Amino acid sequence: MKLMRWAASAGLLLSAGMLANCSQIFGGEGEGITTAMLVGADGDSANWISHGRTYSEQRYSPLDGVNRENVGDLGLAWFADMDTARGQEATPLVMDGKLYLTTAWSKVKAFDAATGAKLWEYDPKVPGETAVKACCDTVNRGLAAWGDKLFLGTLDGRLVALDRETGAVAWEKVTVDQSKSYTITGAPRVIDGKVIIGNGGAEFGVRGYVAAYSADNGEELWRFYTVPEGGDAKDQPAYLQKAAETWNMDVLGASEAIGGGGTVWDSMAYDPELDLLYIGVGNGSPWNRAYRSPGADGTGEGDNLYLSSIVAIRPSTGEYVWHYQTTPGETWDYTATQHIILADMEIEGKPRKVLMQAPKNGFFYVIDRETGKFISAKPYVSVNWASGIDPKTGRPIENPETRVDKTGKPALVTPGALGGHNWHPMAYHPGEKLVYIPAFEAGMMYAPEADWKPDTARGFNVGFNLGAGDVPADEGFRKQVAGTLKGRLVAWDPVAQKARWTVEHPGPWNGGLLATGGGLVFQGTTGSEFNAYDAGTGKKLWSFAAQTGVVAPPITYTVGGEQYVAVLAGWGGAYALSVDGDLIKRKAPVRNISRLLVFKLGGKVALPAEPALAALPLDPPPSKAAPQVIALGQAKYGRYCAVCHAPGAVGSTVLPDLRRAGSLESAQAWNAVVEGGILKDNGMASFAGSLSKDEIEAIRAYVIHRANEDKALEGAAKKVARR
Ligand code: CA
Repeated sequence: MKLMRWAASAGLLLSAGMLANCSQIFGGEGEGITTAMLVGADGDSANWISHGRTYSEQRYSPLDGVNRENVGDLGLAWFADMDTARGQEATPLVMDGKLYLTTAWSKVKAFDAATGAKLWEYDPKVPGETAVKACCDTVNRGLAAWGDKLFLGTLDGRLVALDRETGAVAWEKVTVDQSKSYTITGAPRVIDGKVIIGNGGAEFGVRGYVAAYSADNGEELWRFYTVPEGGDAKDQPAYLQKAAETWNMDVLGASEAIGGGGTVWDSMAYDPELDLLYIGVGNGSPWNRAYRSPGADGTGEGDNLYLSSIVAIRPSTGEYVWHYQTTPGETWDYTATQHIILADMEIEGKPRKVLMQAPKNGFFYVIDRETGKFISAKPYVSVNWASGIDPKTGRPIENPETRVDKTGKPALVTPGALGGHNWHPMAYHPGEKLVYIPAFEAGMMYAPEADWKPDTARGFNVGFNLGAGDVPADEGFRKQVAGTLKGRLVAWDPVAQKARWTVEHPGPWNGGLLATGGGLVFQGTTGSEFNAYDAGTGKKLWSFAAQTGVVAPPITYTVGGEQYVAVLAGWGGAYALSVDGDLIKRKAPVRNISRLLVFKLGGKVALPAEPALAALPLDPPPSKAAPQVIALGQAKYGRYCAVCHAPGAVGSTVLPDLRRAGSLESAQAWNAVVEGGILKDNGMASFAGSLSKDEIEAIRAYVIHRANEDKALEGAAKKVARR
């Protein structure tokens, strides 16, 4: 019944073209955002009312005021500096000439979309120490709109409804067990008055789910778990009983650390005709299947449904409809939470309703979105964990050498844990019939840890030896490893399953994408540029010096007939925090200046002068600790520190470089931070309970040791330069 109402209203609006200029629909007397508006969002080019612009999440705008011919005249119309200096990953929403966005630390800001005048702001006051529960920075990817409200998921797991006019809190609801390491970084979606949001935490032992809440009052309406509860499955829903056959149910849930994972931390899409909500499901927790779901011989066993799967569910009830698992028996952090795009296209002479995804595992998938049946998949980056996908079964043909269990040899696997594509949204241009993928290459060493013990209070709980892949302080070696890191924009033909064109970037972790009716593709880069490319050829047509890495996806909208392009600049996220910052900087000297940039044709505003990129001198105290103390420090650093402060203590490109920390000089000062938690409001929580005083001091000894190694390396480089 409801479906018919939606379809009818959407059809009416679309066929009448009533939404072509519908800014009068918003505000004042209207009922605000409705189902008809969300279903018909494609016809409303002035606004951007949903995360991926439309329920199909194509991130394609038909606007063509800015186009191939005139994009050279694009200039800054206004900008706004943000009050956080962490990763900025949000897609703004635009309604009736007002722009709403989220920033790091789950803050919300509203601006006049034409002038940049600030209208209101909201700070949910997420406790700083929540940062330690987040795998991948304190980011937030955006809002959802419904009626007169906006909906925000906060890092500490709340769903907050804000009055769109004033930013006042209408209601808020805690959606997670806050005693566990659940976080929310994704944007909610709203379907027929139900606000849908998942969460993250699969590096920390949680059990993943997505849930729906009433837009009116936050009441939980349904919850869909992606993995079964351990133990006996007979009282669980049928789809979880089926999943239970693919798990070691005795081990699952037996410890706080083996929650299974499968978090739904980002992608969703919705087909109103089929009335199916598609969710992308994340990696296993812990990563290493041999610990998560061991077989009789101690190695990992089972597909572990619904990890790394795309699942179709009924949004009114949360009922399971179908699933497709991209990585059975996931063990490499190969999430299928990456952006999902819905489109209709002709394949082998037949019209098909498809769903497309480029998950972390390196294959680009085209799936029948009615049935979940596999259509095709081909690698969009270098892949060594599988040689292909069997077209009959839809299962990967795995390379056994890349599956690391509790013992045995480490394996260098491509893609690595960051994937061949991460959360950065793709875009689909229906005219060019191309999907634009922000792809990259960053392999990873997966090393076994024979006697892994979980710690659910703090630190990464993944079941591998994370310190084993540190790149040594050897100039030739470091240069070589840096050379393997690659970033590119790939224009992918989903029917032919191959790239039509490719643009190489300085390094991995480039921005999300926007495609437009003006024949343009917009993307920010790790090279601190914001660029426009010809959607058909990849030719760079325009470039703006953004002074900072840009990872967020752009949007476009109109106010008073003038087209604007907006992007939230500001470097950060998993790559920026967890990859060796020296290697990142060798590719491009990237840093964070968090700032909303808004462009229009003829825009003449200039940014303030770029601040100098100055590093403090490397001046550590002498390294005097015994080798076994340094080794202990290295192991503990790898487990507890590396994911935010970068492996090898080389410093990330966002958070403090510990080799240059003032507290390195003093055991007391160091302990006051690590055990005492005096910097917890900045995000540096206390590690008391997880690390002993001796271990904390061993970490200091290790960082001092590393700082001295790198100082010697710098000295050697200077000597070479002088010669
Ligand atoms: Ca993960």
